[in-house]
Amino acid sequence: NEIKKIAVVGTGVIGNGWIARFLAQGYDVVATDPAEGAEGRMCAAVEHAWPALEKMGLAEGASQDRLHFESELKQAVADVDFIQECVPEREDLKRKVLADIDRHAKQGAVIASSTSGIVPSTLQADCQHPERVIVAHPFNPVYLIPLVELVGGQKTDSAVIEQARKFYDSIQMKPLVISTEIEGHVGDRLMEAIWREALHLVNDGVATTEEIDASIVYGPGLRWALMGPFLTLHLAGGDQGMRHMLEQFGPALKLPWTKLEAPELTDELSNRVIEGCEHQTEGQSVAELNKRRDEFLIELLELLEKY
Ligand code: NAD
Repeated sequence: NEIKKIAVVGTGVIGNGWIARFLAQGYDVVATDPAEGAEGRMCAAVEHAWPALEKMGLAEGASQDRLHFESELKQAVADVDFIQECVPEREDLKRKVLADIDRHAKQGAVIASSTSGIVPSTLQADCQHPERVIVAHPFNPVYLIPLVELVGGQKTDSAVIEQARKFYDSIQMKPLVISTEIEGHVGDRLMEAIWREALHLVNDGVATTEEIDASIVYGPGLRWALMGPFLTLHLAGGDQGMRHMLEQFGPALKLPWTKLEAPELTDELSNRVIEGCEHQTEGQSVAELNKRRDEFLIELLELLEKY
């Protein structure tokens, strides 16, 4: 069951992030994407990620030359041991692409979907070999953020989950096996809760996008790099920890502070959010912001290792 060669289907933000990580770990990678100009964008994205990966340390033999683009999905997946699907988040499209991958992949190859929200039982429904289909949900930038959520569907073989867990662990990731399949898995459920509330605050004119970002970056965000919501509150409860925290603030959970429904994404709200982000970044391109973020994340990851 050794994994030597990997295919990435869909070379957008996430597909290219996976490609960069797999290459840096010394794998041969085949990529495919039907979009015009996809190959050029893929090469540029890998090139942009490479300095960060060099700083993190490349595996022996790792090279961008070991990346190959195939225009046909059939050819791309036929001869690989592991397939990472990264096409747009649309159920009909994903089901079709996964069924195609399953039809052409060799026996024993693992098929992992990067889906942020769709459950694996739905994704594997049209596959002839659903037992090898799993969700492996990463976080952007995939080549630096270690977390990957692994979820099996009703027809997934538990041995495949274990094989995938070992594989992601071996490529310097933190695989988290999630026992129950639910829309949005775990990480994105938490992110969505904040995202919904942030949109409400902008929509209601309470705070700008810049103020909301500052309220995370200079506050909870600093703590979250080391501790999640539970341990953060455990420490905020004094010597009694979470016990005291719940006694003191438990009742406040019933206060109608937050709005749980998503606001309607009107043109006005969309424009306010887009203009807010453009104002915040003042002419810096996304590529420049990515570079700064990568440098910051590398230092943060080194720091996290020490604690
Ligand atoms: P994206 O729009 O950047 O890229 C999708 C790519 O898939 C495009 O290049 C498109 O041309 C290609 N594509 C479309 N149809 C295809 C087909 N039939 N075969 C092969 N390629 C095809 O999207 P993204 O942000 O990279 O998201 C991809 C997946 O990753 C989604 O399921 C998403 O939920 C998940 N994801 C996204 C993030 C994120 O932060 N962007 C994080 C984790 C997971």
